Amino acid sequence: MPRAYIEAHGQRPARSKFRPSDALDNTNDPSLLTAAARNRAAGASPYKVLHYMNFSDLGLTPELLRAVAEKGYAAPTPIQSRAIPAVLAGRDVLAGAQTGTGKTAAFVLPILQKLGNPSGRAPRALVLTPTRELAAQIAESARAYGRYVGIRTVVVFGGVGIHPQIEALRRGCDLLVATPGRLKDFLAEGCVSLSEVSFAVLDEADRMLDKGFEEDIKLILGSCPPREKRQTLMFTATWPTSVRGLAEGFMVNPVKVTIGNRTRAGGDENGAGNGTVELQANSRIEQKIEAVDPRAKEQRLLELLREAQKGSGKNDRILVFCLYKKEAIRVEQFLQKRGMRVASIHGDLRQDQRTRSLESFKAGTTTVLVATDVAARGLDIPEVKLVINVTVSCTHH
Ligand code: AMP
Repeated sequence: MPRAYIEAHGQRPARSKFRPSDALDNTNDPSLLTAAARNRAAGASPYKVLHYMNFSDLGLTPELLRAVAEKGYAAPTPIQSRAIPAVLAGRDVLAGAQTGTGKTAAFVLPILQKLGNPSGRAPRALVLTPTRELAAQIAESARAYGRYVGIRTVVVFGGVGIHPQIEALRRGCDLLVATPGRLKDFLAEGCVSLSEVSFAVLDEADRMLDKGFEEDIKLILGSCPPREKRQTLMFTATWPTSVRGLAEGFMVNPVKVTIGNRTRAGGDENGAGNGTVELQANSRIEQKIEAVDPRAKEQRLLELLREAQKGSGKNDRILVFCLYKKEAIRVEQFLQKRGMRVASIHGDLRQDQRTRSLESFKAGTTTVLVATDVAARGLDIPEVKLVINVTVSCTHH
């Protein structure tokens, strides 16, 4: 029975540990809506207000609206409807939002607007994100959304030569996208000053903490103006105590937003009633678990891949997650020897190799990507038909 049917009949899919009371959505505050949206929404319940919104209701400038139109977005996603007005109104935002919800535009668009004229000196906006690929992806989006406003974006992350990044920082920027480790090094070397940062974004905050970046994040935020003098936006998919601790320590009375996954076909990811949404498994994805003898795992994986890529599915993209680098290397070699078009992405590869693997998978030259959790979150890879976790992680998100 399809999951949509089950849900329509009131049986809820399995929830993550996240509880809506952890982040009550208070974005229905009409003061956060533009006048146009308030008028059109008159008489509607606060929950419906968000569905009446167009991009033009959000109070964005024509230059940004033009860039959004060129991306082909018909309407803002729920996280964009909620977060953009809140950021424009000068509020901190604490958002429970997963990959695919459109969260990048939700923070980039209002920040670009509030930055106003480019200055191109020391960064005035900072985005911290856990992985190099995600940093590159955010910078690319920021350049696309900001193509008519002339804001200069620089991205810095580890694993690649340091000198081009130092040079880029020296030339100045408005928006800096960074992974915490590399940025900390630049701060220590005095290559960059964060004293003019008015917007600090922690993207995938839970993931950054998982990766052991807590001290780096504290040091970096400590190098920015105090929380009262900047806006701080935080996005997280889960709510461990450490994330709440960060929010308490670094934010001022944030607007809290909770969002499920974006559904492309105009589906509705909003919860009824109080306007809050719980994070949940995407109900349109069928999930299967198979217990396999560890010694037979790779053979079974091969069977599943061959099965999935039979006939018209021969060019379907499949992501294979491994828990450890060693496992990823072994699985990739195993599949390669058996003629699969496979690439991999894990921490033992150089950055240029990781980038090449990702690009060839996105382009469809390789149809199977074996990855460790460096690719587990946040990457926007279109048209992945199947995701296989070779070893299930012991930690639950
Ligand atoms: P993100 O969650 O920011 O990684 O975005 C996931 C994907 O959604 C990206 O491919 C974006 O280009 C796309 N996207 C963002 N906002 C919208 C929108 N309003 N309508 C349609 N697609 C969008």
